[in-house]
Amino acid sequence: MDVIKMGVPKIVVLGAGFGGLMTVKTLQKQLHYNEAEVTLVNQNSYHYVTTKLHEPAAGTTHHDHARLPIRSVINERKVKFIQDVVTSVKLEEKKVYLENNEPLNFDYLVLGIGGAPETFGIKGLFEYGFFIRNINSVRVIREHIEYNFSRYQTEGKEELVTIVVGGAGFTGIEFIGELVDRIPELCQEYDVPIDKVKIVNVEAAPTVLPGFDKELVDYAVKYLESKGVEFVLSTPIAECTPEGVLLKGGREVKASTVVWTGGVRGNKVVEESGIETMRGRVKVDEYLRAPGHDNVFVIGDSSLVFNDEGRPYPPTAQMATQQGQVLGKNLVALLRGGQLEPFKYAPKGTVASLGSREAIGIVGGKKVFGGRAAMMKKLIDARWFFMLGGITMVLKKARL
Ligand code: FAD
Ligand code: NAD
Repeated sequence: MDVIKMGVPKIVVLGAGFGGLMTVKTLQKQLHYNEAEVTLVNQNSYHYVTTKLHEPAAGTTHHDHARLPIRSVINERKVKFIQDVVTSVKLEEKKVYLENNEPLNFDYLVLGIGGAPETFGIKGLFEYGFFIRNINSVRVIREHIEYNFSRYQTEGKEELVTIVVGGAGFTGIEFIGELVDRIPELCQEYDVPIDKVKIVNVEAAPTVLPGFDKELVDYAVKYLESKGVEFVLSTPIAECTPEGVLLKGGREVKASTVVWTGGVRGNKVVEESGIETMRGRVKVDEYLRAPGHDNVFVIGDSSLVFNDEGRPYPPTAQMATQQGQVLGKNLVALLRGGQLEPFKYAPKGTVASLGSREAIGIVGGKKVFGGRAAMMKKLIDARWFFMLGGITMVLKKARL
């Protein structure tokens, strides 16, 4: 059913990720009929669960476990969904430009289109590297690894079964955790001797997971090293080539697969909107508004929120979800002339998987690791499915 109505305020939400979907879910729950016209725009017909993308990237799960149809979680009597690519936003015109549809007018705009890989201008990464960003990018990684393993028996080159992961942040470590689960299966399928496979994790900082608890980092490193992973620390990747990577200091690692997990920056559309950004991210005010624009809100990976010590919080799904919930309520308050609630991030902890049976984390101030942490991680994933579609969605999608 078409929800376009005349004369009612127009709320346009860009991006059906953690932040955008949570905004829309909150709006559709609280808005009365005809109180606002809500439009959600996303480039795909599905929502992908970014927090699970390391699994299909390594091939330990199918990518369908990390996506679900947007129409299955929104109420189309209250929210109009447009599948399209946002090409630009013109804030002065109050318009959003799309690749295949007419421009959209808005009274309130929510920018929730996520981030983009930060490559720091390193030569060759976009040409020869792979990225864990969305369903298409991880499907390519899995297929690429499988294809190269399949060539090993006939060509015999070790670089075919060498995988370099650039960056040992949480994305890099979670991906390597999945890889070590997958490698034995791949070796069996493609007749590759397991001792020929190399996984090399290159990190610029002196430690894996810089800034995270040392005991938990040591646990992760010991576990992954026991599975054959090589860590190269304090050594930035300087260049990515068709043959592999060149490291600062001159070492070359020959590898047919280079996966870059060196960080995220804001989305290009946000960067080009005229709003002031830092590495593509917008320093939002306490109501998540873009500076100088009372009707434009930025959430998720394109936003920057600072803690009480003036340090930026890392961009996480946890942050985006909480922002979406508060913003949804605030938009309703705005429409009704009520008071806005300031956004205050409440970190619940961090759990990182090391494959399906191991994990590390800090939850409620307590350290967790091993099988217990792995179960917690699965429950955290399941919670997101619950928030989107209740128990039915958990039963359909969660892998406990
Ligand atoms: P996203 O979830 O990235 O959603 C953005 C949406 O906008 C997407 O649907 C995208 O298709 C759409 N979009 C983008 N550009 C356009 C355009 N031009 N036009 C139309 N649509 C567009 N965080 C945690 O808190 N816990 C974790 O365990 C965790 N694990 C992670 C594991 C991995 C492998 C990765 C990569 C990240 C992980 N993160 C985790 C970080 C977390 O996934 C991100 O912070 C979160 O997804 C950000 O949410 P978002 O709503 O800003 O953007
Ligand atoms: P990140 O910025 O957290 O980590 C990137 C890593 O790459 C850093 O350790 C950095 O030192 C390293 N690096 C940068 N340049 C390099 C170079 N030239 N050579 C080698 N190493 C280099 O990025 P991420 O891991 O993609 O995480 C992005 C966000 O998603 C973070 O906020 C993270 O907390 C979140 N996340 C959370 C989880 C979880 O909670 N389980 C999982 C994945 C990601």
